[in-house]
Amino acid sequence: MSPIKEPSFRESVDLMFNRAVALMDLPPGLEEKIRVCNATYTVRFGVRLRGQIQTFTGYRSVHSEHMEPVKGGIRFAPSVNQDEVEALAALMTYKCALVEAPFGGSKGGLCIDPRKYDEHELEQITRRFAYELAKRDLIHPSQNVPAPDMGTGEREMAWIADQYARMNTTDINARACVTGKPLNAGGISGRVEATGRGVQYALREFFRDPRDVEKAGLTGSLDGKRVIVQGLGNVGYHAAKFLSEEDGAIIVGIIERDGALYNANGIDVDAVQQWLMKHGGVSGFPDATFTRDGAVVLEEECDILVPAALEGVINLQNAANVKAPLIIEAANGPITAGADDILRKKGTVIIPDMYANAGGVTVSYFEWVKNLSHIRFGRMQRRQEESRHQLVVDELEKISAALGGQYTLTDGFKQKYLKGAGELELVRSGLDDTMRIAYQSMRDVWHERADVEDLRTAAYLVSIDKVAASYRAKGL
Ligand code: NAD
Repeated sequence: MSPIKEPSFRESVDLMFNRAVALMDLPPGLEEKIRVCNATYTVRFGVRLRGQIQTFTGYRSVHSEHMEPVKGGIRFAPSVNQDEVEALAALMTYKCALVEAPFGGSKGGLCIDPRKYDEHELEQITRRFAYELAKRDLIHPSQNVPAPDMGTGEREMAWIADQYARMNTTDINARACVTGKPLNAGGISGRVEATGRGVQYALREFFRDPRDVEKAGLTGSLDGKRVIVQGLGNVGYHAAKFLSEEDGAIIVGIIERDGALYNANGIDVDAVQQWLMKHGGVSGFPDATFTRDGAVVLEEECDILVPAALEGVINLQNAANVKAPLIIEAANGPITAGADDILRKKGTVIIPDMYANAGGVTVSYFEWVKNLSHIRFGRMQRRQEESRHQLVVDELEKISAALGGQYTLTDGFKQKYLKGAGELELVRSGLDDTMRIAYQSMRDVWHERADVEDLRTAAYLVSIDKVAASYRAKGL
């Protein structure tokens, strides 16, 4: 535990919010209305397990209902508490506004260590929690739509969707009550990878503008950049995999629960993930140096640091020692408000959580739309697009033959061009577009306003402006 007093997670979010609103001209009272969390429901429920009743505590917090439904993940972790859930719900409000996903902000959590229960027990617990929330409309397609977060994934979302459907047998939109479901239970292609994919798209957009790259004291592109990732779960694994496989980044460090791996020549992300699945930790992995005190590796030399596990990992204790010139907050709240001050003064560029991990809610939005429209994306257009492209290819081949076959289309080009976009391609395209546009909106503020020093403040300015506009439109 840190001997230095730091604000709580929720206080940290409020401090960052306050820093941004001080630069805005909001009508009196509206600032307070946006900042406060509307409601937090606490539930304690019992489940009979292993011959006795065990009591669990869960939360669902609704930060802002300026748009409905409200949206936000459900976390399963022993450390879940009201302060954390409220901080995460607030971040959801700002995140949805920033990426223009038409939702208010919410978040839920259950105090549980999921690794201590078998699958059947977890199903009983999850269904009971879902029942408690659904009967109060805290799970509902038009009121409150959860998604996965730490400790939960597709499996839990499928149980929640089924529980809601059992309680609402005539609701034709029942599947839209939760996102992040498996494909065969109303999910969407590309949701599992979405948050990590979003981190990749965010970094690509960052590296598209040399002014931004220069602010971080870096040069060139993602190719060859040394990356350290903390947390090889859903978000960290996908981000590290895509950055190394598709952009040429070198994953030099991986920090997990039991310690960290380091190899300056690069670490094979898939091999570590398989090791982690099999052994429950990274220790013993053969092709890297293992350090028991994983947090120390946050302070190693690298170009890009990707905290993708927990909140508060970069704090007053270690911020001054963090050497990475660029940090992308794949996790929610990994940098405390105090650490943020220290890093900002050092010139570290931070791509903030509310933007960096918004890929998840963006694709959740697409899934919700798919559920409400009851049709897979691309189903109507794909073959029509392919036949139109075939027309072009046929025509070009005729011209090529008329010119004596001197110019021909390559097979690679034809294969790519003739393939119509299916759901996965459309989801990735929508996600890429969203991540680019949201980044550009932050970048404009960052570069154009002399009083905005960092991307986090820029992100708050853009998103609070949108939330405020929506309150004004409602007449509040
Ligand atoms: P996850 O449960 O899939 O993975 C978390 C990983 O972190 C696990 O591999 C775990 O072993 C590791 N970890 C736990 N404690 C650690 C520690 N002390 N040091 C190092 N590693 C540790 O969770 P996730 O869904 O990948 O979420 C990670 C973060 O991303 C959270 O902050 C979450 O709120 C945020 N996030 C997730 C999503 C999503 O779609 N899943 C979307 C937006 C934001």
